Amino acid sequence: MPRTVVFVGKDIIRENARLAEKLREKYVKAGVKVLEFLGGPGSGKTSIVERIVERLVEDYGEDKIAYIGGDVATTLDTERIAKYGVTVVQVNTGGVCHLEVPHVEEAIRALGGVEGLSKYKYLIIENVGNIICPFNFPLGADLRIMVADVAEGEDKFVKHPLSTRVSDVIVINKIDLAPYVGVRLEKLVESARNLNPRAPVFLVSAKTGEGIGELYSYLTSR
Ligand code: MG
Ligand code: ZN
Repeated sequence: MPRTVVFVGKDIIRENARLAEKLREKYVKAGVKVLEFLGGPGSGKTSIVERIVERLVEDYGEDKIAYIGGDVATTLDTERIAKYGVTVVQVNTGGVCHLEVPHVEEAIRALGGVEGLSKYKYLIIENVGNIICPFNFPLGADLRIMVADVAEGEDKFVKHPLSTRVSDVIVINKIDLAPYVGVRLEKLVESARNLNPRAPVFLVSAKTGEGIGELYSYLTSR
């Protein structure tokens, strides 16, 4: 039997959770709905955000949407979202592999604080591409949306039970690739549901647009 050493940075996580509550109060005060997208690198978070932003702009106008993109180094994702005419703020974490509340606080200051934030109807936060620790650091969002893609394998959720359990919405992206990577979609969905019966599971392809309408309706209906 291999030995297993379990380490949890409990104090840091607890402190972040406390700060996330305070941040949440700011969102409520500003009357903005906050959607946080989390998931591994290459799972398609930015592509899905693009599809969602496209529709939000259609329904509410570009001035009503703000985006905060967390990344370890580049501004590539933020540039993609900026093309839709919405307000974007880039957070470069300087190598840190997830966003924490102070990162978002700083981004909100750049948006003009609570008053500036109140101009928007939706704030989208895209976390750093990482399927582990971002899930431990809530940012006070209304919905935490986990994005996984079929090419990551059938056991993705089983291998990341904590991330799966704390998510409010589960999105399986790149379903158009399923036949090529030998993944059974029903197995993926079943494992996500077993771990987290409370989160709806959406099968989408950001590339073809399949399933995006249903996801959009859910994200904007609550
Ligand atoms: Mg991205
Ligand atoms: Zn991290």
